[in-house]
Amino acid sequence: MEKGKDDITSKRVTLAEAPSFARTLLIMKSIILAYAQTLILASLFVLLLTSCSPILANLSTDPQPIKSYIFVTANPQPTATPFQPVRITPTQLPTLTAYSTSTQVPTNTPIPTQTEPIPPTDIPSVTPPAAPTSPPPAAVERPQYSISLLFDYAGHAATVSETVIYPNRSGEALSTINLAVNSNLWSGVFALQTISINDQTWGNYSLTGQWLTINLDMPLQPGQAIKIGVGYQLTLPYSSAKFENFGYTARQTNLIDWYPFVPPYKNGQWLLPDPYPYGENLVYEKADFRINLTFADPANQPVVAASAPSTLENGNLVYKLNNARNFTISASSDYLVSSADANGVTIYNYYFPSDANAAAMVLELTRMSVNTYSTEFGNYPHTTLTVCETDLNDGLETDGLYFLASSFYRAYDGSVTNNLSTIAVHETAHQWWYGAIANNQATEPWLDEALATYSEHVFYEDNYPSLLNWWWNFRIYSHSPSGAVDSRLYDTGTFRGYVNAVYFDGAIFLQSLRDRIGDDAFFAFLRDYFTRSNGRIVTADDFFAILDLHTSTDISDLTNKFFLYR
Ligand SMILES: [Zn+2]
Repeated sequence: MEKGKDDITSKRVTLAEAPSFARTLLIMKSIILAYAQTLILASLFVLLLTSCSPILANLSTDPQPIKSYIFVTANPQPTATPFQPVRITPTQLPTLTAYSTSTQVPTNTPIPTQTEPIPPTDIPSVTPPAAPTSPPPAAVERPQYSISLLFDYAGHAATVSETVIYPNRSGEALSTINLAVNSNLWSGVFALQTISINDQTWGNYSLTGQWLTINLDMPLQPGQAIKIGVGYQLTLPYSSAKFENFGYTARQTNLIDWYPFVPPYKNGQWLLPDPYPYGENLVYEKADFRINLTFADPANQPVVAASAPSTLENGNLVYKLNNARNFTISASSDYLVSSADANGVTIYNYYFPSDANAAAMVLELTRMSVNTYSTEFGNYPHTTLTVCETDLNDGLETDGLYFLASSFYRAYDGSVTNNLSTIAVHETAHQWWYGAIANNQATEPWLDEALATYSEHVFYEDNYPSLLNWWWNFRIYSHSPSGAVDSRLYDTGTFRGYVNAVYFDGAIFLQSLRDRIGDDAFFAFLRDYFTRSNGRIVTADDFFAILDLHTSTDISDLTNKFFLYR
């Protein structure tokens, strides 16, 4: 249901109307900062009531969570200035032509589109992707992923044949192509079998940590496209450490960032920030996905949730999702599923049988959130949104699918004043701030996290306005937030400090900005920011440049107060 702007505006409260002790906290921020490290260390032992990173509770309870990662510093092209990326001025793309290797494929010959199956070693053959058979790479406007996944659910393993048609839209000749291999951050999980370039077996590559670097024998020119084949096996990790959602538990397998993908290439560098245990670090270009899923044991298939609905083709589950950041799969033999409609967007809700009542609330809040954010910010970019109850901590967003912790379902009290509700609303907001509009999650995480957190405020404001003071106290001020809103993922040292600065001080900054420029300018800005940035990877410079179009009010004191790098 849409709400009129006047109705919404009449319900809004300003920070000045927030509880007086909260304002006092803001004033005392400088004092709190002096004791921030002490507070942060102490608060590591307090349950974190937040979202989008699954690990805080385990920092104190799991003695070896960080050992799940193989930390790497193997950025082959490290460069500085992650805070000065390009603005979002659209660039005219040249007509794409096919990339050719110097040895095998004649120049200007369209890249063959037939995919060779990757011979498996210990489980049955993978059915080669049925598509694409056309169009040729010259017509490709964004990366095309065609992935054939043979999933051994009971054996916690997979054999994968992946094809990427990658267009070079960087404006530079690329002598190397890098792929992000998140699954290679675990020992013994990612087993690379074959690499091919334009269907020719390719041996000139290296795999170090999350970097798969393919060296070309002639540069990929701007406007050209290249076909990259990757064959590999996954031996999935057990997620007992609750450190990452990737892997399996006793009743669930989550395939998140499970396939190598080409990260964005901007200003001469590949945007593949180092991993960090306190949060998400990856940056995603929009791409098109086609996933062909088969099971090693077809008679015992689990229920599969995914970023897009499936169709059945020749006995295989086929998923197609265009213009998305990534593609996620969650499977469980225990899943039940319900659905709802949000003005044409179908919400699929996967949950475990013992949590049916809480799941019903999750479905309803997600439906309401999609309606609220579509009205306030802009249309949801896909036709479906999937929610998955997960054994792991907190919440986690991916494009078209988000996870929500079982612990929230079990603690559900029948109200909307709890973590189940706030985090469901928060994760839904990430479909706008993360999915539709992306950012460098490592260097400017506030661009998605502060906006997703403040979107919780917008949701309660529009749907439960009497609960706004509760929201501020429960969600924000109870944590005594402090720290620079534009802290990088690596700056704060603890997850508590990271969340307090980026999420919670970020929400206070956005409220302060709104109070300063007024409701009309603030929401006009948010809608314009969404419209102009939809599909792009934005920076703080973009955020403030678009803001400048909607207000001439001086906010320099706010940026000085809340930001470190402005
Ligand atoms: Zn978040």
